[in-house]
This record gives sequence, structure tokens and C-alpha cells, in this order.
Amino acid sequence: MRLGIGYDIHPLKAGRKLILGGVDIPFSKGLLGHSDGDVLLHAIMDAVLGAAGAGDIGDFFPDSDSRYKNADSLLFAGRIRALLKKKGLKVKHVDSTLLAEAPKLSDYKKKMRENIAKAFELPPARVGVKAKTNEGFGAVGKGKAIACFAVVSLG
Ligand code: MG
Repeated sequence: MRLGIGYDIHPLKAGRKLILGGVDIPFSKGLLGHSDGDVLLHAIMDAVLGAAGAGDIGDFFPDSDSRYKNADSLLFAGRIRALLKKKGLKVKHVDSTLLAEAPKLSDYKKKMRENIAKAFELPPARVGVKAKTNEGFGAVGKGKAIACFAVVSLG
């Protein structure tokens, strides 16, 4: 079995859309990044690439490339799924933990799981999305950033 781990963090800024797991979440701030700043998809994609022995998302979608400015991370996920197919691999299971002081994410977890499941062609029951606060500690706890951890297995 192949396992991969991923982590990402992006700063929260006023005037940006908040996109997590491909879901547009109403909030006063959004994640700043070269792409849409979707930390959940970024952490998952890094985990997938790690498990595939294929590098990291910076190798595929460098932030120096203007084509990826404000890009939809779900499109990146489609590209990575295609790469896996070429290698004869498939995502079997995803688990993830989002760390965000605000907004409350529980209402959006189901849709995030569905989007991730669709992007990597596996059943939603094999996709875990958990959300918690950082209990006030650090940049995440002060509401200045959102971070995410992810683990995947490939078969
Ligand atoms: Mg990122």
C-alpha cells in the first residue's frame, strides 16, 4: 500500500473568496495564494503526489507561472488524477483535518467531501474532512490563516 502526507497553510485576507475543497464559503476574508488558495485540495494533492512518488504540487503548478493565477484547484486535481492513471494508480482513501478559527465549516464538509470524491473518482464514504479550531494558538488561532493536514492511500 502507498501512503502520502500533505500539509498547507495560506493567509486570510479581506477581499478574497474563501474556497475550501472547491466550495465557495461565505466569509469576510479568503485565502491569499497564487491560485485560489484552497488549502484542503493543496494538502490532499501533495499527499497524493507523495504517495505516487511524483514530487509535490509546486513541481507541477509553480506559483511563478501566470497561467495558474487565481486558478481553480479542482482543475489541478483533475490533472493529478490523470497523472495517477498513467502510472496505473488510484486514490483509495483520503483523510484530512482543516484548522480554522472561523468561519464554522461544519455545514460545508459534506459538499467538500463530494467535490474531493468526484475529483479523484472515489466514493464520498472514502473521503474524510474534519474541521477544528487551533484553540486560539498561533497564526491560525488568531484567525490570520487556515491550515490543513491530509493523508491519502493509493492502490
Ligand atoms: Mg497552497
